[in-house]
Amino acid sequence: MSMTMAAKQARGKKQNDVIFAASSAAQSDIKLNGKDHVVNGTVGSILDEDGQIVFLQSVKEEYLHLPNNEYIAYAPIAGLPEYLSAVYKACFEDAKPDAYIDAVATAGGTGGIHHLVHNYTALGDTVLTADWYWGNYKTICKDSGRILSTFTLLTDTNEFNIDSFKEEVMHLSKEQENLLILLNTPGNNPTGFSISDTSWNEILAFLSSLVASTTTKIILGVDVAYLDYAGEKHAVRQFFKKFSQLPKEILTVICYSVSKGFTMYGQRLGAMIGISSNQDVIDEFHEINAITSRATWSNLCRPAQRTIANLVSDDKKFAAYEEEREAYNSLIHERAAIFVEEAKSCGLPLLPYKGGFFLTIPTTQSTKICDALKEKHIYVIPLVKGIRVAACSIPKKQMKGLALSIYETMK
Ligand code: PLP
Repeated sequence: MSMTMAAKQARGKKQNDVIFAASSAAQSDIKLNGKDHVVNGTVGSILDEDGQIVFLQSVKEEYLHLPNNEYIAYAPIAGLPEYLSAVYKACFEDAKPDAYIDAVATAGGTGGIHHLVHNYTALGDTVLTADWYWGNYKTICKDSGRILSTFTLLTDTNEFNIDSFKEEVMHLSKEQENLLILLNTPGNNPTGFSISDTSWNEILAFLSSLVASTTTKIILGVDVAYLDYAGEKHAVRQFFKKFSQLPKEILTVICYSVSKGFTMYGQRLGAMIGISSNQDVIDEFHEINAITSRATWSNLCRPAQRTIANLVSDDKKFAAYEEEREAYNSLIHERAAIFVEEAKSCGLPLLPYKGGFFLTIPTTQSTKICDALKEKHIYVIPLVKGIRVAACSIPKKQMKGLALSIYETMK
C-alpha cells in the first residue's frame, strides 16, 4: 500500500469521474476532426446552436458594469439582503408559499445540499433520494460520513413511484430521528422527469400523516437546479405553494442555484431557502446554516450576488432577462422534442422527459454502448442504469438522427 498522510476517515478517497473522462474525449475528438463532425452530449451547460457556451446578455451587461467595490468587497456571510430578496422573486415568482421563510446564500445548489446533510443528519445516518440521482449526492454523503439510499423513482408506466417512496421513508423513519429526503425536480438530472402536482399532493399528504403519528422529523430538500428550463415558468413553479402551512415537523428547504438560470456556473452561487410553519425552526435554520457557511467557505461571490440583485429588482431588466432565458428554455425543449420523437419512431427506450438539461436512455450496457458510440464520434455519458444525453448542448442539426444512431449501436 502506498504511503498516506490522510486522517483515517479521509484515506482511500477516489472517484472515477466518467463525465470528465467523456468530456475530455469529446474535446480531443473536436480538436482533431472539428466540431461539426463530433456530437458532444457530455456538457452540463447551455451551448448555442454554434456550440458556444451561452452567457445571457442581460446578465453579462449587469455583471460587467458594477462599481469597483462590488467586485472586491466581502459580502455578508448569509448573503447580501438584496440578493436574497432577488432569490425569493426569481425562485417563487407568483407561487411563494404561505409560511415562515428565510434564506442563506450558498456555493451553488451544491452548497445547500452540503449544508442539509451536515446540519440535519447525524454521522452514520442515511439520506434518501430517488434511484435516478445526481452523483454528487453520494459524494457529499460519503464525504460527511453519511449513507445515501434510494427509492425507485418511476413505476412501470413512468409515473412517480409513490409506493416505493412510502416504503423507503417508512423504513428509514423507524431507524433515525431526522430523515433528510432529497428530491431533484423539476427537470431531474439525469432523466428529465418532473414530479407532477398530483404526486406532490400524495407525497405531502403521506409525510404529513407520518409526522402526525410518529416522532419522525422530515427535512425535505428540493433541488430545483433546472427550474428555469423545466417548462412554462408559471406552471413549473406552482408546486411551491404546496409547502404552505405544512406540519411543523416538516422543514422544506429549496436548494436554489443561479448556475443554470443565470448562466453563472463558475461564480459558485445559490441559496438554501427554508420554509416552515414554525418561526423557531426558521430562526434555527438561518443560524445553523450561516455558521456552517462561516466554517466552510465564509462568504460568497459578491459581484454575482450584486448582479442578480440589480437585475431582478429592476422590473424592466428582469423582464428582458426572463425573455432571453425563456428563449433558451424553448430551444432546449425543441432539441429534446427532436430526440423524443425520433426515439419513439425507431423504438429506442427513453425515460419520460418533461424538462431540464438531460434525457436518459435506460440500459444496463451503458459503458459498452458509449464506447461503441465514440467510434461514430458521438459522446454521451454512461450511467449505472442508463445513458445521459445533453439537450442543453447538442444543436438541433446534430440532434436529428441521433436517436437512430444510438438505437442502431444498441442493437
Ligand atoms: N443539483 C443537480 C441535480 C445538478 O445537476 C447540479 C449541477 O450540475 C446541481 C444541483 C448544482 O449545481 P451548482 O452547485 O452549480 O448550483
